[in-house]
Amino acid sequence: MVPGSPVESCCGVVTRRCGLLSSAAPRLRVKISDKYDIAVVGAGAAGLMAAISAGRAGARVAAIDSAKRIGAKILISGGGRCNVTNEAVRAADFNGSRNAIAKVLRTFDVAATVAFFEDLGVPLKIEETGKLFPVSNRARDVVDALLTAAEDAGVEIISGMRVDVAVPGFVINGVLHADRVILAAGGRSVPKTGSDGSGYDLARALGHTVTKAFPALVPLIVTKGHWITEVSGTSVDAELAVKSPTGRVVQRHRGSMLFTHFGLSGPAVLDISRHWIASQPATLAANFLPGETFESLDATLVDAAQRNPRATVASVLRYRLPDRLIAHLASDTALGRMPKDERRRIVHDVVDFTLPVIRDRGFDYAEVTAGGVPLEEIDLNTMESRLCKGLYLCGEILDVDGRIGGFNFQWAWASGRAAGMGAAVGGSRGHETASSCPSTSSESS
Ligand SMILES: Cc1cc2nc3c(=O)[nH]c(=O)nc-3n(C[C@H](O)[C@H](O)[C@H](O)COP(=O)(O)OP(=O)(O)OC[C@H]3O[C@@H](n4cnc5c(N)ncnc54)[C@H](O)[C@@H]3O)c2cc1C
Repeated sequence: MVPGSPVESCCGVVTRRCGLLSSAAPRLRVKISDKYDIAVVGAGAAGLMAAISAGRAGARVAAIDSAKRIGAKILISGGGRCNVTNEAVRAADFNGSRNAIAKVLRTFDVAATVAFFEDLGVPLKIEETGKLFPVSNRARDVVDALLTAAEDAGVEIISGMRVDVAVPGFVINGVLHADRVILAAGGRSVPKTGSDGSGYDLARALGHTVTKAFPALVPLIVTKGHWITEVSGTSVDAELAVKSPTGRVVQRHRGSMLFTHFGLSGPAVLDISRHWIASQPATLAANFLPGETFESLDATLVDAAQRNPRATVASVLRYRLPDRLIAHLASDTALGRMPKDERRRIVHDVVDFTLPVIRDRGFDYAEVTAGGVPLEEIDLNTMESRLCKGLYLCGEILDVDGRIGGFNFQWAWASGRAAGMGAAVGGSRGHETASSCPSTSSESS
């Protein structure tokens, strides 16, 4: 095949936004060019940002996505409102190599993100929590704006094409040639959006290692029939602690915790979930009255019993804990008649309750994937692979995961932009082709 000549492809190629946004978009059989400066594999948040940045820098870019409908994950993000970023983004908000993460974040900070979206016609607003959302509260506006920006930057978006083979050089699926490739295929969270983990296979095939991928920001399942499932819908402010088998606290998080029909969710649970998973065998304990210790709460109850022997745990804690929770943690025995052991058992359960978590809810319900390609294998100035010349990586495929609050998108925007610029500049430096990369396919790995 002569590079530069058009080829017949059975993948859906859509350059009109109306086609991209329609979930019922037909699989088109159209001509596509087979030669690009840069092919971006994955047109999610990071891939679109990379494609826009590279296109604006003058590169001829194709952004390829296996999903027929581009932007599915952005559309479901933030409860359909897309929490684009956070007013304060620090490396400490992420898990991974924090010095390396900080270096990338510095290249495109929160102010730059706000200006970028403002420029695309999507002004952002800060909420009390520090999270930034579109003023319109519509994730769709974020997707539309990114697609328009991609189109304006001359990016060709190829939807419905799963990349299975990227042969160094690069030849993609045997039909599409690109001098450089940006791998932005995400992780494994919510695979029905298109992020099915095949990006890891492509990265491995091109010489990278991939650290164990596991769900992060994921709800947790408790023992079947436990009372926790009976108070579904109740939420409390709690301090959660992951404890090693010796009782050492490995990680703490304070925040809202939600009881559900299957177990536990809410920001504090989602944030701590990856630590519970990574620390197995470990337990998860909750202090339902953050700030109280065993001693302080026990003293409160002793004091309450002395002032009114007929007081109950429920009457003392009424305004501090939901009734439905107290009903399961404490009896309605008057404190004046309650044996010391029973009182101390209740106090212990309120401030250090071992949650009966048996497993996480899996990738289908995880907002993010922990693990991925280590940042040590990436040149952080350009996001170029240190192992395979001409290959760039960005977004969730890398071994970076942030806590809840807009941090994961900020990583996608910053790393995506750095990769797009890096790949565009890499071309103007006259990159030699990727002879250093191994030649294989994701299917065979
Ligand atoms: C329910 C939910 C809510 C969330 N809410 C927020 C939020 O409000 N704020 C926040 O900061 N973060 C949020 N996140 C996390 C955030 O969405 C991700 O961190 C971010 O989208 C990652 O971007 P990415 O481009 O790296 O990967 P992805 O968004 O996963 O994109 C990867 C793309 O690559 C494509 N792809 C994969 N493999 C291939 C292949 N072999 N060939 C071709 N294409 C391929 C996929 O189809 C996909 O479109 C949420 C996640 C979920 C699941």
